Amino acid sequence: MKHVEALVVGSGAGGASTAATLAAAGVETLVLEEGPEVAPGALPQFSQAQMRHQYRNRGQLMALGLPPITYAEGRCVGGSTEINSGLYHRPSAALLAGWTRGWGIEGLTSEVVDPISAAIERNLCVSTFPGPLPPASAFLAAGAEALGWYSVEVPRWFRHDTGQRQSMSLTYLRYARQHGARVRSGARVQRIEVRDGRATAAVVEGADGGQVRIGFDTVFVCGGAVQSAALLLRSGVAANVGRTLSMHPTVKAVAFSEKIGNDPHDVPVTQVREFAPDMTIGGSATDGPLLALSLLPTAVGVREIPTYGAGAGIYYAAIRSSGRGRVRVLPRLRDPLVTFRVPTDDIARLQSAMGRLLMVLLAAGSDQVVASVHGGEPITRADQIPVEVARMSRRAADLMTVHVCSSVPMGEDREICAVDSFGASHEVAGLVVNDASIVNGAPGINPQGTVMALAIRNAEHFLTQRGVRPAPREFS
Ligand SMILES: Cc1cc2nc3c(=O)[nH]c(=O)nc-3n(C[C@H](O)[C@H](O)[C@H](O)COP(=O)(O)OP(=O)(O)OC[C@H]3O[C@@H](n4cnc5c(N)ncnc54)[C@H](O)[C@@H]3O)c2cc1C
Repeated sequence: MKHVEALVVGSGAGGASTAATLAAAGVETLVLEEGPEVAPGALPQFSQAQMRHQYRNRGQLMALGLPPITYAEGRCVGGSTEINSGLYHRPSAALLAGWTRGWGIEGLTSEVVDPISAAIERNLCVSTFPGPLPPASAFLAAGAEALGWYSVEVPRWFRHDTGQRQSMSLTYLRYARQHGARVRSGARVQRIEVRDGRATAAVVEGADGGQVRIGFDTVFVCGGAVQSAALLLRSGVAANVGRTLSMHPTVKAVAFSEKIGNDPHDVPVTQVREFAPDMTIGGSATDGPLLALSLLPTAVGVREIPTYGAGAGIYYAAIRSSGRGRVRVLPRLRDPLVTFRVPTDDIARLQSAMGRLLMVLLAAGSDQVVASVHGGEPITRADQIPVEVARMSRRAADLMTVHVCSSVPMGEDREICAVDSFGASHEVAGLVVNDASIVNGAPGINPQGTVMALAIRNAEHFLTQRGVRPAPREFS
């Protein structure tokens, strides 16, 4: 059986940051990624080919519940960072302090995390848009200004000189490879073997269906909040795993206005943060087929989209839910069963979110706005908003999210946490969880920056515990 010092399962925000930190410090590192390797930019965004190759289950995933919530995950080298919008937030001192109090996490202060975040920001070229905001962003900013609401331009990990989003395959994975890490795509870890309370080997399925076992000193599980929990459960590591899945349930509306334009490459970067962190309003896409999907549950014909020449965009309002989800594995089923309970007060929050979303889009000067809710009708005036908000019942809501986390909570309280303050399993030696699973509770911000900062902090802690000096954090 092949043996490595560090096995990293998954190559997304958590896995790539972990691998880079370990490899740069001289640790023999092998990254196993279930999905394929796709050159950045090779597949047009939101194309059928991209959905097939880089999204898990072609982008069709659902947390069951009333209402159900559709969610998306990347499944490729680089994970969700290859398909996400690239909007960056640094985790705030208040967020870190809240987790420290709530879960008993040690050493999670902004004095520790800020220098890591600063290095991430430089490595990923986190920056604002050069020049005036693109139309779809300026549109939302104008609506916020008209209402007197606070809005910001969220920086992105983006190189404006090359036009390339700085996903993990272009940054941390590339750096990890330069330091000798190997990345094997098409390699799915089915389960981790545990002997006498220690994780010892991974059972790995190749793209051809064949199986191999790989031994390790330490395994870093970084498959994303749903898949990491599922892998642990399949491996019999179950204490406090998969019971506290958190997310940002999100409502959408389509705004029609020639001021928005229809640039399929544009990602609106303005966010209304007047009601943050409990509610954030932003934009996602102006792409025709996605607009049609958003209109699917409404009373508006989806065929109208291609003929609507003036411009349209999808805007969203995401809430920080107090609800909890579960990840379960069922015998003989490959995919985990994901459920999410939307509490009653969340429905009221989602209604309020939809009301504010419609307000800001009308204030921005939309010709008409359609709430993406079952039976949603086009509206043109603010006095029509209450009718659309009232449609947002538990049964008629059409919810989605791209932010899932918190399935393997981190902290010293063994009653509620699955891993310690640095991601090491409370139950099994030689097993560290280092991805969105350990982001305890929905953060109220776009989470990739937080996932990466925690992963680097935990990997550096792992090294120093073993007397290994971490390498400098900056590499660009
Ligand atoms: C469409 C979309 C848009 C988003 N937009 C933003 C944004 O603008 N800003 C932001 O901050 N965040 C955004 N996010 C969220 C952000 O991308 C995630 O929070 C972050 O990538 C999570 O990192 P992770 O390492 O936990 O998981 P991922 O990045 O999802 O990586 C997990 C990887 O592990 C692999 N894997 C899973 N199980 C196994 C296994 N058993 N064996 C081998 N490999 C496995 C998966 O295939 C995947 O490639 C977005 C997400 C999506 C899906």
